[in-house]
Formats: sequence, structure tokens, C-alpha cells
Amino acid sequence: MTETSIPAYDDNNIFARILRGEIPCRKAFENEWVLAFHDINPKAPLHLLVIPKKPYVSFADFSAKASSEEIEGFTRAIGQIATEFGVVASGYRLVTNAGPDSGQEVPHYHVHILAGRALNVSFG
Ligand code: AMP
Repeated sequence: MTETSIPAYDDNNIFARILRGEIPCRKAFENEWVLAFHDINPKAPLHLLVIPKKPYVSFADFSAKASSEEIEGFTRAIGQIATEFGVVASGYRLVTNAGPDSGQEVPHYHVHILAGRALNVSFG
């Protein structure tokens, strides 16, 4: 089946502008694959956003088009960030919204890391 429902990447989305340094962010971590920064409207004591450096609209886009190296780099970076922020023992939640029904606001793939308190188990 050919995927036709992923929109074109918008170069002017806010995370693209953060990656280009046009808008500031509170940086938490950076390596060759990802940039991570604190969410501007945190929903937990620790609320980070991890974004790939390359332009993908959503998880759907990333999982379809990213190279194995990029997928590995992105996944390992999330684990490293959780370790560096000291939340592995206490626990954390990863969330990614993809597309309209999820309420995705920013059309650049991102994973939320939420930690620092007991999170409720509502899934929306
Ligand atoms: P989503 O609904 O999954 O697309 O989440 C987008 C997230 O980006 C929200 O949690 C926003 O609070 C966050 N956000 C939007 N603009 C910024 C910004 N300039 N810096 C940091 N976080 C932002």
C-alpha cells in the first residue's frame, strides 16, 4: 500500500525554526541525530521534547523514511537523555502525537519525555 496521507514538511514550523537557531529554546541535550529541549508549557516536573535534526512531519513519516542509523540514533538518544536526567529508576513516559486525531500541534516529529511525578494513566 502506498502512503499518501502524510502532509509535506513545512520548513517554517516552530521546531524547524528552533533547529535553525531562529527561535531560542532551553536546550537539554544535543548530538548528531537529535536536539532535545524543555517544553514551553510543561505538563510534568520534567517535560522534554526530543526532535530529529532532519525534517520529518511525524512518527508516520519518520518510521517510513528515516534510515536505520537515524532510527537507532534517535532511539538511543532518548534512552541517554532519560539516564542523564536521572529518571530511569523513578520512571518516565514517552508520548508522540501523529496526525489530526492525536492533537499533534507541531508538524515536526517529536517525542515528549514526561517525568518527575506519578503520571495518571489516561490515554485520552
Ligand atoms: P504536540 O501537541 O505533540 O505537537 O506538542 C507540541 C508541544 O510543543 C507542546 O507541548 C507545546 O507546549 C510545545 N511547544 C510549542 N512551542 C514551543 C517552543 N517554542 N518551545 C518549547 N516547546 C514548545
